[in-house]
This record gives sequence, structure tokens and C-alpha cells, in this order.
Amino acid sequence: MKNARLVLCPDQPDWTPPDDESLEQLLQSIQFIGEPFNGDMQFLAGERFLDLIALMGCSPGIRLEPEDDQAFCYIRLIPGTESIEFHGGDRTHAPRCPQCRSAVADWESKISCWQENSAGTPWSCETCGHEAAPWDYNWRKSAGFGRCFIKISNIFPKEAIPQQQLLDALHSHYGVSWHYFYQY
Ligand SMILES: [Zn+2]
Repeated sequence: MKNARLVLCPDQPDWTPPDDESLEQLLQSIQFIGEPFNGDMQFLAGERFLDLIALMGCSPGIRLEPEDDQAFCYIRLIPGTESIEFHGGDRTHAPRCPQCRSAVADWESKISCWQENSAGTPWSCETCGHEAAPWDYNWRKSAGFGRCFIKISNIFPKEAIPQQQLLDALHSHYGVSWHYFYQY
């Protein structure tokens, strides 16, 4: 299965870059992204993409250029949404309480509820009563929250891993830490 997405996002879920061009300019300057294509903030992989993303396992067959209508790896930037969004997938794991590590069985209904009341009321753990924001739960790299995302499409889940150099470049430029997860 190669239709997973690797997603990078800032640790502070309400953070956005100072303007809509900044992220594109930074990622172009470190040659993570190359030429834009199809509009909508989509870019081909840049010259140094494979230095900044490590590929494990059977990923060497990854395609970086459009060819014969086959799925290929490209990057889409979402610099800033109106409010904090939840980005998960069909295989998102049940999140675990940051205090007692109990899994939240009905997390899908809790997420729907959270999305309807975007005010961001904290979740209260049914096992230990601890209150925490949904993004403080442990989603085991299978979902994330934010307003700013870097999405790398058509990779094998968990086999494309951002190198520290890429996370450091984002951190030193913006002064906020970044993490990553997989959507599939
Ligand atoms: Zn708990």
C-alpha cells in the first residue's frame, strides 16, 4: 500500500507561519520542494528531498515524477487554516490518555463533537478523570491537529521518515518544534 501520507506539523496546534508564502519559500530554499504543479500549493519533490526524508524497507521503488499516470510522491502545503483541524485516516489508532494511558474507545464520536464545537473544550478521561486537549492524547503517530501542515503523498506508511535536519530547519526558522504522523 503506497497511498499513505506523511504529515509534518508544528507542536503548537494553533501556530501558523507569518504569511502564506513563507513555508513555500523556506522549503524551496532547502530544496525539499521543487516545481509547483496543478496549483493548490502542490509541489514536486526538490533536489534534496531524499536527503531530508529517509526511506526504509521496500520504499526504494518510490516515484518522484509524474509518469504513466502512476501514483507518485509529491508535497502539498497547507500554510494556515481558519481554526485547528483534526487530520486522521481510516486507520487512526484509538488515542491514549496522557495521564493513565487508557485508550479512548469512542474517540470518533468525541472527535465529531469536538469538530462541531470548535471552542476546544478539553477531554476528560473516563478512567482517571484527567482533563487534556485532544492533541495532548497519544495518537501514536496516526493523526494530528493543527492549522499548518506539510503533506507528502503516496508513500508507504511508516517507511518514510523525516530526517532530523528537516525538523531542525523548520524549528530554527520558525522557533517552534515540529512532529510528524501518518494518514492512511
Ligand atoms: Zn486517564
